[in-house]
Amino acid sequence: MSKKTAVAALLLLVACGETKAPPIHGDYAAAKITDRVYVIHGPLGMPSQENQGFANNPAFVLTSAGVVVIDPGSSVQVGEMVLDKIAAVTGAPVIAVFNTHIHGDHWLGNQAIKHAFPKAVIYAHPKMIEQARAGAGAGWVNILDTMTAGATRGTVARPPDLGVGAGAGEALKLHNLRFRIYHNDRAHTDTDIMIEVVEEGVLFLGDNGLNRVLRRMDDGNLKGQLAALDAALASKARHFVPGHGQSGGRAIVVGYRNFLTALRAAVKKYHDRGLGDYEMKDQVIRELAAYKDWKNFNDVIGRTIGVVYLQIESEAF
Ligand SMILES: [Zn+2]
Repeated sequence: MSKKTAVAALLLLVACGETKAPPIHGDYAAAKITDRVYVIHGPLGMPSQENQGFANNPAFVLTSAGVVVIDPGSSVQVGEMVLDKIAAVTGAPVIAVFNTHIHGDHWLGNQAIKHAFPKAVIYAHPKMIEQARAGAGAGWVNILDTMTAGATRGTVARPPDLGVGAGAGEALKLHNLRFRIYHNDRAHTDTDIMIEVVEEGVLFLGDNGLNRVLRRMDDGNLKGQLAALDAALASKARHFVPGHGQSGGRAIVVGYRNFLTALRAAVKKYHDRGLGDYEMKDQVIRELAAYKDWKNFNDVIGRTIGVVYLQIESEAF
């Protein structure tokens, strides 16, 4: 490339806003959950300029023939950081990726994985793939760029390749390990899969299960989410990896289930007394006092009461 062409290409990149933002600078450890499963627990806040959009729990699983990544994060930068963490543990290639649902903070890191390992197959629920291809992917790139003031710049949506989870009880055998897929048609979203690595006793909850942190529930259905958590608790898994927050045992699933149950019961009680969602807000928040220290509680609870209220209203018809 001549110097003139190079300058022109650079100007074009700048004009398109495609200049790549810097790498992730925080020092995030890959926690060893079992012999073959590692989780990088991300920051608990919403994606921001400060956390460079990194706000989920990317994970990786070591099979006998390569690495399987779960949810490589919100950006090309997070995906590259995940690849660095994998390289510190094994020289094996990434052979597959699972995306738990459509929310961009979980899967836009696909780009980095595909760039480094073009043969890696990315799996997700067919509805997630459909939505990602229909424009949700590009939409999430813009949302994260705005939320982080450009810290995810350079990220391009790379939708998954193959659908999984449409059939009940489906399990993929990837070399020596089985990945059992759980799907509830409406849970945290209508695109969620939970993934159980059977031999390791580890279950990835996606955003169906969180640990001492809250996220918006606008795209979900609370009853379906409870059913998903019941399915998780009925599994033989001993280790549970939430979409956000620290991994743990059954207690973290039970804890989040208790929160959702208490939220639903409180909203239903005041709904049945004839109160509108705005009128009940203060009382519901008081009844959920046990959860007020959970991260993002104050930011999302008001809106969430409104969401649950609408679901209870629609059940009445
Ligand atoms: Zn989500």
